[in-house]
Amino acid sequence: MSEREGPRRERGAAAGPPGGGLARGLAVTLRTMSRRSVTRQYPDVPPDLPPRSRGVIALFEENCTVCMLCARECPDWCIYIDSHKETIPAREEGARARQRNVLDRFAIDFALCMYCGICIEACPFDALFWSPEFEYAEYDILDLTHERDRLRDWMWTVPPPPAHDPDGETPKEVVAAESPPGERAGGGRAGGRPAREPRRAGGPEAGGEPDTGAAPGAGEAGE
Ligand code: SF4
Ligand code: SF4
Repeated sequence: MSEREGPRRERGAAAGPPGGGLARGLAVTLRTMSRRSVTRQYPDVPPDLPPRSRGVIALFEENCTVCMLCARECPDWCIYIDSHKETIPAREEGARARQRNVLDRFAIDFALCMYCGICIEACPFDALFWSPEFEYAEYDILDLTHERDRLRDWMWTVPPPPAHDPDGETPKEVVAAESPPGERAGGGRAGGRPAREPRRAGGPEAGGEPDTGAAPGAGEAGE
C-alpha cells in the first residue's frame, strides 16, 4: 500500500457502508423538521437582550469635563469634541480666577465605531454609558454621526445598574448621600471623595482655588 492510499482507505473505513452518510443526513433533517421553530418574530416581537448589550453609547454631558481622554483612547478616532475655555471669577479676595472647559460639541461617528467600549472604560467621570438600544440604522451614512443632543437622549434608554450584593458593603455614594451635609467628606459632595492635602506654596494651583475634580489632562481640549 502506498503512502497516499493509506489515509484514503482509513477515511473510507470511517465513512461506513455506501449511502450511510446520506442516511445520517436525512436523519438530521427529520429530527430538525420535527422540532419547534425558534424564529424570533422581530420587529413585531422585540428581542430580549442582556442588560449589558452594546447597542449605542449614551452621553451624560453634565458629568463631562472635556478632559478628552475618551477621544484620545478611541482606536478609531471617531469621537469629536470641541470646547472653549471660560473664566470663572475668584470667589474670595486674593484668590485667582479659574478657567474651565465648556463643551461645545460632542459627537460619535457610529459608522466608524467598533463598539470596543474603550471610551466608556477610559472616562474617569462616568459620562459615557452603554445602552442596549440598537435601532438607529440610517439610509445616509452621515446620519450615523450622533451629535451631543442625540447622545444625551440615549441616556433615557440606559438600564439601571444591577443591584448590589445584599451582603456587600454599603456603597460609598449611598453613605455620603445619607450622611448629614456637615459630615460629608469632600466638602459635602455626593460621592464622598476625601478632601485633598493642602497644596504646597508655589504649586501650579496655589492661591486657594476650589477643587474642580478635573483629571490630569483636563483643559487640554483641542490638542
Ligand atoms: S466604542 Fe471604541 S471605537 Fe467606539 S467610540 Fe468608543 S472607543 Fe471609539
Ligand atoms: S473621557 Fe468622559 S469626561 Fe472626558 S471628555 Fe470623554 S466623556 Fe467627557
